[in-house]
Amino acid sequence: MQDSVDIVIVGGGCIGASVAYHLAKRGAKPLLLERNQFLGEESTSKSAGGIRAQFSTEINARLSLLSIQAFERWDEEIGEPLQFWQWGYCFLLTSDELVANFKKSFEMWQRIGMKPEWWTPEQTAEHLPYISMEGVQGATFHARDGFGDPSDITQGYEKAARRHGAAIETGVEVTGIKLDEGNRKVVGVETNKGAIGCDNVVLCTGAWTRKLGAQVGVDVPIDPIRRQIIVTDKFDDITDPFPMTVDLSTTLYFHRESGGILIGMSDHNVGPGFDQTFDEDFGDRMLMAAMERAPVLENASPKHKWAGLYEVTPDHHPVIDKLGHVKGAYVCAGFSGHGLMHSPAAGIVTSELVLDGKASTVDITPLELSRFSDPSRLHNEANVI
Ligand SMILES: Cc1cc2nc3c(=O)[nH]c(=O)nc-3n(C[C@H](O)[C@H](O)[C@H](O)COP(=O)(O)OP(=O)(O)OC[C@H]3O[C@@H](n4cnc5c(N)ncnc54)[C@H](O)[C@@H]3O)c2cc1C
Repeated sequence: MQDSVDIVIVGGGCIGASVAYHLAKRGAKPLLLERNQFLGEESTSKSAGGIRAQFSTEINARLSLLSIQAFERWDEEIGEPLQFWQWGYCFLLTSDELVANFKKSFEMWQRIGMKPEWWTPEQTAEHLPYISMEGVQGATFHARDGFGDPSDITQGYEKAARRHGAAIETGVEVTGIKLDEGNRKVVGVETNKGAIGCDNVVLCTGAWTRKLGAQVGVDVPIDPIRRQIIVTDKFDDITDPFPMTVDLSTTLYFHRESGGILIGMSDHNVGPGFDQTFDEDFGDRMLMAAMERAPVLENASPKHKWAGLYEVTPDHHPVIDKLGHVKGAYVCAGFSGHGLMHSPAAGIVTSELVLDGKASTVDITPLELSRFSDPSRLHNEANVI
């Protein structure tokens, strides 16, 4: 392992891999350190793979549009396989409040160049014949949304980063960040395999970011929150292509997965913690909600189930910023359950922040860390599942 580099990236999920690729593509030679044996073993591998631009805030929608564009030209740019099913996302609107909120979002989506569709209840029933229309007042649909393979995304970035000269070491845990005597600038990292000198460190440590941020005296308010998924056995009673379908009244979502159906739902009673045990009682509630919204799923048998960690900030937006006043310290984490879909944009803007001092492709001022000390600067994302 090198004992001195310019930039160390800590954490090899989809975000760290993307940051490594985008820095290396611009000529930097970053070193990515991941404590596990493989990249993407934590939240990234637990993801449902959803990719969508239908967010309530402009910054989230813009990060998605930039990312969708990157996924659409993946073969050309990354040169590795990506399974990306661009079958759209459909949000079912089941209350006056949701209809009013989505009308506002719909205008914003059109303004920033999206081509969303607004479906009446009749159109919704026609497009999604397997859905119970109970309470459904309409739906929004965006054809460029869909879902992609988390492993393809992470491995694609990993391989392309290496080709551009990035070094990637696994089985290396960063245990400390070394600052100069005045605590003003980064001079290296401590790891379980020895110290490495560096001028810059980028924390891409997802749900574990708070611990490393504290090393330089900065609180990065990212909490680990457990989320669960069930995938059924092969299931043909819903015909393809069917869009990722979301019922915000329950947070239920489902889409095709390996011939079966992937079902997810958020347990809002779960507090912060690193427990990733699958909660069977909540799993039963997920299945009940799924069968209520799509009665045809009564014929499906659950096959796989797992739990993983969302990395949640108070306003459900990531932090992409310098880390306090410490020169050379950066953070790109806290995607609050949307990191896979935002990984391309995250890599682009973080590489600009590190190499140019400022992101230029997207204005990331709304993602600054300082927003948490001024509640008026928080911009809550409403379309959270
Ligand atoms: C059930 C579930 C469903 C989801 N569905 C979606 C979805 O549909 N669409 C979507 O976009 N997102 C989804 N997400 C969220 C998405 O998975 C995350 O936002 C994304 O994976 C975050 O990527 P990351 O690289 O920041 O984090 P991670 O993948 O967790 O990577 C962080 C890495 O940092 C490493 N690390 C931490 N500390 C250290 C250290 N000290 N030294 C070295 N390495 C360290 C960890 O080992 C880990 O590999 C879902 C998440 C879950 C749990």
